[in-house]
Parts: sequence; structure tokens; C-alpha cells
Amino acid sequence: MPRDRVVIVGSGVAGLVSAFALAARGLDVTVLERAATPGGKIREVAIGSSRIDSGPTVFTMRWVFDELFAAAGRNFSDHVRLQPLDILARHAWDERARLDLFADEARTIEAIGDFAGAGEANGYRAFCRDTKRIYEILEKPFLRAPQPSMGGLLGADGFRGLMRLPQIKPFSSMWSALAKYFADPRLRQLFGRYATYCGSSPFLAPATLMLVAHVEREGVWSIDGGMHALASALADGAKSLGAAVRFGQEVSEVLISCGRATGVRLASGERIAADAVIVNADVGAVADGAFGIPARRAAAAIPSRARSLSAITWSVVAKPEGFPLRRHNVFFSRDYAAEFDDILARDRLPREPTVYVCAQDRGDSDSAPGDHERFLVLVNAPANGDRHAYDAAEVEQCAQRTFGVLEQRGLRIQPQAEATQVTTPADFNRMFPATGGALYGRSSHGWTASFQRPGARTKIPGLYLAGGSTHPGPGVPMAALSGRSAAASLVADLISPKSFPRMAMRGGMSTR
Ligand SMILES: Cc1cc2nc3c(=O)[nH]c(=O)nc-3n(C[C@H](O)[C@H](O)[C@H](O)COP(=O)(O)OP(=O)(O)OC[C@H]3O[C@@H](n4cnc5c(N)ncnc54)[C@H](O)[C@@H]3O)c2cc1C
Repeated sequence: MPRDRVVIVGSGVAGLVSAFALAARGLDVTVLERAATPGGKIREVAIGSSRIDSGPTVFTMRWVFDELFAAAGRNFSDHVRLQPLDILARHAWDERARLDLFADEARTIEAIGDFAGAGEANGYRAFCRDTKRIYEILEKPFLRAPQPSMGGLLGADGFRGLMRLPQIKPFSSMWSALAKYFADPRLRQLFGRYATYCGSSPFLAPATLMLVAHVEREGVWSIDGGMHALASALADGAKSLGAAVRFGQEVSEVLISCGRATGVRLASGERIAADAVIVNADVGAVADGAFGIPARRAAAAIPSRARSLSAITWSVVAKPEGFPLRRHNVFFSRDYAAEFDDILARDRLPREPTVYVCAQDRGDSDSAPGDHERFLVLVNAPANGDRHAYDAAEVEQCAQRTFGVLEQRGLRIQPQAEATQVTTPADFNRMFPATGGALYGRSSHGWTASFQRPGARTKIPGLYLAGGSTHPGPGVPMAALSGRSAAASLVADLISPKSFPRMAMRGGMSTR
């Protein structure tokens, strides 16, 4: 029997998860990636002999990958070595005001009590209870569902579902909801920052996104060999299950014939026939025509005002001084509202940014790993990389402000030009075209935003979408869920003759 052929465009985490899941089901899978390595935003930057994780660094929801590997009869931990972190992150507002969040809720309650008083610790207890509930309500009908739907959310028992709706707090902003738990503005800022995990502002995102706090409490792991080890393990796993993964292959068109996706054409001119195609590029690129005019129908455009945040990152090897770093560290700006106003309303870099520092050679302990360490330093930025150049002077000014914020809070990192690589929204736009450098697809502003992300199936039969710009949203595990949903939808359609009539060109040869 000829096997059903699937082409996957892109080897971001969603594309790799689709490839892994479909190869495990015995389909004939080819992944086409225009870059030289797998992972997409899970990228490494080389500085001398150091390889620096320069995309995602916080790994959560390992169950997504445990389930994926288990479904293929494998054990995730045999392929990716994870170390749980006791300290989720260290937070600093000035040289003295510091607060750690722990994986252990009781330790965090104690730390918040010491930092801000018993009332705030009680607020945190209530916050934990409510964010757990939000997560539990949403996991099955929303996060695991292939399409976002209000009907799915309300469930079979529509009335009871409707009664549960207020519990997920879709109609209040995260910022106003946080005020009900925390009187201390520093704690509002700390927990409001979780909106940025979806590339959004806590002042505009629905309080539903507070569920990210619960996700982190369930566990944050570091990965031996860095996040890139995850991408490699997925690519190697897919290959060992029979998938072909080809790098340096840019897809320029999804071929559509009689209204169905029938394969792809590469920039080289090569055509590859397929029974189904999964596109793992940003949906903005699909809507922009990067895969041909007919394929544009598969996704609605993301207007620039609806884009999620971009970032400026510094991948650095340096010797730090003065601050007891942990693996994940956050140095807060003094005026969070002004920071988001700069980025979103004024379309400019924040005058005083909140700075995230991933000290990648560290874990939970005080011990410094040696003279020089690897860092990813990140500040949020507007997604305007398609209309703004970010020249050297502007980047230098931003560096002064960013490393100045660190210094005012006790951390001195003096990056040398030869030991630093900067990535701006313009660079992100080059790597992920038609996004302006937005790293998380559409922003999650307003309660309807989550329903505007496209699901796995598109209007074009045989063409599926997967990735952080699709449902259920951005972040490594969420994008992985979208990849799993795309694979599951595709398999379900393959076995349904109504939605998937056999094509004459099935099993066709690759032609140039
Ligand atoms: C700086 C940064 C920090 C982040 N921090 C975190 C974090 O700590 N934790 C977390 O969970 N998430 C984090 N994220 C978000 C997370 O990295 C992403 O949501 C996730 O990796 C997106 O995966 P994806 O499947 O959408 O694919 P992407 O990573 O977007 O990859 C898409 C792939 O498709 C390829 N492609 C595109 N067009 C074509 C074409 N025409 N032909 C062939 N190939 C093509 C691209 O080259 C790319 O490899 C961060 C992201 C960034 C950038």
C-alpha cells in the first residue's frame, strides 16, 4: 500500500511535533526547513566556542512531550534530560527588593509574606487557587482542542458551561484582576508579566492569561544541552520513525488543485506532491501570500496593531558581578504602564525596560559556574521590524538603558562587542517574514483574541496550520499542542472519505 504523503513546511517545534506524530502513525512525512538547523525560534547563537540559547529558555508543561513520545512507544526522558528548578525565577526592583518564586507553593507563600506581608501572602493563596481553576477549566475543551470555539468551551452542558465562564475571567483585564489579589504594585507587576509570555500587555490581556502562573507552578525545567536539545531530539525522533527532514529548503508555494492542497513548490523550482500539507510558518506569512495567492485564503491577515510583542535580545558571554543570579532573573522597570505605553501606543523602545536575564550556566544554587558565563538578555520591543531599521545608534542607546537597569538593581554585566550578538525586531522579521518581528502571532488583547487565532484545519482541504501563531497560542508547549492537533486533524480527515477524497496525483514524484 502506498503511504499517505505529508509535507510539513517549517521545523519549528509545532512542525517537528506534527512530523513526529505523523511518522509514528506510519505516514510518509517530509519536513522542509529553509534554515540550516531545526527549531525555528528555538535557536542557538554561537559566540566563540559557546552556544547560547537565544530563543525560549523557560521550559514548562513537559506532559505535552511525555504524551507525544509515549504515543510512539518511547520515553521522553530517554531522549531529553530535564532538571527541575526549585526557584522558578528571581525578581528584583532595586538593590534590596528581591523576591524568589518557588516551585513549592508553601515556600513562595512564605517568601511573599517576608517580602510584602501576611495580607499579600493570603492574596497569593487565593491567586494560586483561582489560576489552577482557570487552567483546569480550559485544558481539555480549549488548550487540547484543534480549533478555538466558544461552543467547545461551554461543553455539552451549555448552561453549566456558561456559569463557569466568569471563573476564567475573560472580561476583566489581567491588571485589574491582579489588584483583587495584591495591594503591592510590585506583585501586580510580577504576576502581570506573565501576559508577555503570550506577547501581550497585562493592561490589555484578559485575566484568563493568569493561568500561565499555574503552568509555571506545575514545573519549570532546564534542559541538558539547552533548549536546542529539544528541537534536535524531536527532529531525530521524527527521522528515526521514518520522516525525512531537509534543511536549506525554502517553500515558495503551496500547490492547490481543484480547491485542495496537493503539494508544494520550493524556491529552487522543485515540486513535491503530497496528500496533505502542514504549514508551520507564521500565519501572517500565509495571509501575506508567502505561499502563493491561492493559499492566502487559509489564514486571515494580522493587522500590525494586533501584532504581539517583539524583543531585542543580547546573547552574551561575560563575567557578571554584584548580583546573586539564578537561572531565570527579572529586573523590573519602575513604571510598567509607561513601558507598555512606549511599546504599544508609541511604537518605540521602552525608555526604561523590564529586563529578563537567563543565566544559562546556573541552576538553583549560589555557585558561579566559572569566570565567564552565557547569558540571554531580553527586553520587550514593538513588532515594527518591517518598517523600522534599528540602526547601530538606536541599538546602542537601548543597550545603555538595558544594562543600566541591571546595574541600578545590582548586576553588572559588561558585554564586549566581540562576545555579544544582538537581535532586533528587524532581524526577527527577516527570520520570520511578514511578522514585523512579532514573536507570538496575534496579541492576546481583549477577550475575543484567543478565538481569532486560526485552528489546525483551514478553508482549503488538505492544508493545515500549526505553530505559535495558531490556536492554542504561543510558547513551546502550546505550539507543540498545535502541532499535535494538526497531525490529529489530518489523520482524522484522511480516514474520512468525505473530507479527504483520494487525489489522482497521490504518491507522485518530485519534479524540477
Ligand atoms: C526570544 C524568544 C524568547 C522566548 N521565550 C520563550 C520561553 O521562555 N518559553 C516558551 O515556551 N516560549 C518562548 N518563546 C516562544 C516560543 O519560542 C515559540 O512560541 C515557539 O518556539 C514557536 O514555534 P513554532 O512551531 O511556531 O515555529 P517557529 O519557531 O516560528 O518556526 C517556524 C519555522 O518555519 C520555517 N519556515 C518559515 N517559512 C518557511 C518557508 N517558506 N519554507 C521553509 N521553512 C519555513 C522557519 O525557518 C522556522 O524554522 C520565545 C520566543 C522567542 C523568540
